[in-house]
Amino acid sequence: MNITPVILVRLIQAANDIIEQNADEVAELDRAIGDGDHVINIQRGLKVLVEQREEISQLEWIAALNKIGMLCLSKIGGASGSLLGTLFIAMAKNAKDKTLDVAVFAEAFKAGVEAMQLRGKSEAGEKTMLDVLIPVSELLQQKSTQLAFDDLLVAVKETAVLGMQSTENMLATKGRASFLEERSLGHIDAGARSSQLIICAIADELQKAE
Ligand code: ADP
Ligand code: MG
Repeated sequence: MNITPVILVRLIQAANDIIEQNADEVAELDRAIGDGDHVINIQRGLKVLVEQREEISQLEWIAALNKIGMLCLSKIGGASGSLLGTLFIAMAKNAKDKTLDVAVFAEAFKAGVEAMQLRGKSEAGEKTMLDVLIPVSELLQQKSTQLAFDDLLVAVKETAVLGMQSTENMLATKGRASFLEERSLGHIDAGARSSQLIICAIADELQKAE
């Protein structure tokens, strides 16, 4: 993978567009078992990223990931803002002084997801965005050096969708949805859906770039 941060212009735009296209659905999911603001939080972050995308794409990978993380922390708000900020900042820290390839990205993503887990005191199976991010991280660990890049992206998308769907029949034990106990059953988690949508949009864009 020889991809430079210039691609971030397109990846940020793709993430923004997919959330715009599915905003009503994501809002409804957070209204059902949260407080309804998740999509607004994510849109606020993406708006700033879109505004700064040219500038971000001129940075080195580490600085770009750090900047994205800082903007998530300061602009998104809610539980998801600090979690997503932590993801990118921990990725930048892990990849520091390394040349970014698929295996280094997989390691950095793992470190990012682990940092999120520490921050959110959460694990897989608690009906959150981690039910998408953890399986994707595990897939990257196992397959990043085995599969061709395009096949890896296909597998990432499938894993993200399965993870998102798996939250429907989980009992929420973290975040606002946990207050509903059994009533959280039967609803997909909003953060899992937004994460899956963004991951799939980024993978699509990377496949086009190949
Ligand atoms: P808030 O819950 O503060 O209103 P958002 O609505 O932006 O924040 O984000 C809600 C999403 O954040 C949930 O759908 C869930 O995926 C995720 N989330 C909440 N708490 C945690 C946690 N402790 N660990 C991981 N993810 C969490
Ligand atoms: Mg909310």
